[in-house]
Amino acid sequence: MSIYKSGAFIQQCFSVHPRCLNLQKFTPPDLVFFVCTSCRLIHRVTIRGMTTRVPVRLASEDKKTDDRVGEHLTDCLSAHALALMVREMDVVRDWLGLRCAECRRFFDLDVDSFETRERS
Ligand SMILES: [Zn+2]
Ligand SMILES: [Zn+2]
Repeated sequence: MSIYKSGAFIQQCFSVHPRCLNLQKFTPPDLVFFVCTSCRLIHRVTIRGMTTRVPVRLASEDKKTDDRVGEHLTDCLSAHALALMVREMDVVRDWLGLRCAECRRFFDLDVDSFETRERS
């Protein structure tokens, strides 16, 4: 099975068919898997760190939850995985932003490496 160590593939999926790019799995502390239902590619993103925030409504209660950012993502994934979407990415600056439509929460991922492989 071929593995491509490049952010070009996930970038391509995001620009061509962002709705097909689904967050599949989060393996704490640093692995995030996306699957593209259109290309049938699996993108593995290794992260250096992650922050989360709620843009407006709950901003005041968000400060104390920074150290539980992984738990928030796990909760979103188990409760409403389909609400999670990639909202923005910059593979040159190694950055990826997620949004949960259900919680209205933003996740900002500081990326260490992007890898893409074909779905087996
Ligand atoms: Zn794709
Ligand atoms: Zn959520």
